[in-house]
Amino acid sequence: MDGWSFDTRAVHGGRNAGPIQDPSEPRPQGMGTPVSPGIQPSSAYYFESLTALDEAFQDPAQGYVYARHGGPTGALFAQAVGTLEGADGAFAFASGMAAIHSVLLAAEVGKSSGVVASRDLYGATLGLLTTVFSAHGVPVRLVDATDLEATRAAVRETRPRVLYVETISNPLMRLADLPALAAIAKEADALLIVDNTFASPYVCRPIEHGADAVVHSVTKYLGGHGDLTAGVVAARTGLLPGLALVSRLVGATLGAFDAWLALRGVRTLSLRMERHCANAARVAAFLSRHQRVGRVHYGGLAEHPQHALAGSLFGDRGFGGMLSFEIEDADAAHVRRFMDALTLVLPAPTMGDVYSLALYPAQASHRGLTPQQRASLGIGDNLVRLSCGIEAADDLIADLAQALDRAP
Ligand code: PLP
Repeated sequence: MDGWSFDTRAVHGGRNAGPIQDPSEPRPQGMGTPVSPGIQPSSAYYFESLTALDEAFQDPAQGYVYARHGGPTGALFAQAVGTLEGADGAFAFASGMAAIHSVLLAAEVGKSSGVVASRDLYGATLGLLTTVFSAHGVPVRLVDATDLEATRAAVRETRPRVLYVETISNPLMRLADLPALAAIAKEADALLIVDNTFASPYVCRPIEHGADAVVHSVTKYLGGHGDLTAGVVAARTGLLPGLALVSRLVGATLGAFDAWLALRGVRTLSLRMERHCANAARVAAFLSRHQRVGRVHYGGLAEHPQHALAGSLFGDRGFGGMLSFEIEDADAAHVRRFMDALTLVLPAPTMGDVYSLALYPAQASHRGLTPQQRASLGIGDNLVRLSCGIEAADDLIADLAQALDRAP
């Protein structure tokens, strides 16, 4: 697998994830190795002797014991993602938020070892940091992570355990300068943890840029079809024992059925992302020329303030499928009329699916903030977020055009 390209690893990753799925294992006579892995929902495993069970408890490589500790289907999926992210190992969780919570616990954040985090984070991640972790005494400092000097100053001052950012932020598509942030974290002996959900490993692999761990809401691009809830953490060696422990003791383990769907999603990640990226580039170009549209936030546009950084982080495979745009002089009522007029794009509060999806941040992801707080983050009442699906770009553009025309 080492010499294989990303696209090949996406199709074949996780083939040999553990003792039970190893295709070289003897199978009952007359039975070949299935090309598609099975779903193994068993909640526990028995062994030929108590000694063997004891060995499996001691050493997970000897066999699965109890589903909360992990099972073969989740392990296949996690290993597939770990290979794509260039990590030393990975663990699957029941949701993206469970993955984020677990990696912070595994990093051992605490009263004297807090978190410096980008202020441009998914709302629930901000909530987790500023309510749940703060309530347990974990110091949390929010910074504008695109301001490297301010970030360095906050890290030097607070000596956090973790510097936490998103590769592409929600909803303004601000980019994290991962190599620079990794250097800032390293200087202070902190871990750089990156939520790579918006980019997906097809577009960016933060560990290659110096991150210590990567988290995903698998519910989005990795799953890709809007039919599962899952999360994953892919990490360097140092964090793996902590992740194994937290995963076992907190128990937000991914169930076998969703793990199987998630692995099936990973198999087509490259094909889907290629189309997501191509569609977003076409839609961004269309919107940036539309007279009713103000600013378009998309790293692939030459006018994006971090366009050069996007090129150096993402290489030549595209800039992702997410963008946002401002409807010129629009208020909330106007944006609602626009959203209601869409016939192809679905107004649903998620992203990364094969379907194109529109979201109104002021009413969805950032509804918990006051208009002033939103304004201070740059999120106006006229901002719409778009997750470009894999439909024909012409159909998407036609739908957006008619909705913009019908909502003056
Ligand atoms: N991270 C990002 C960037 C997200 O957009 C989301 C959800 O929208 C999450 C994490 C949380 O994922 P989940 O909903 O699977 O818990």
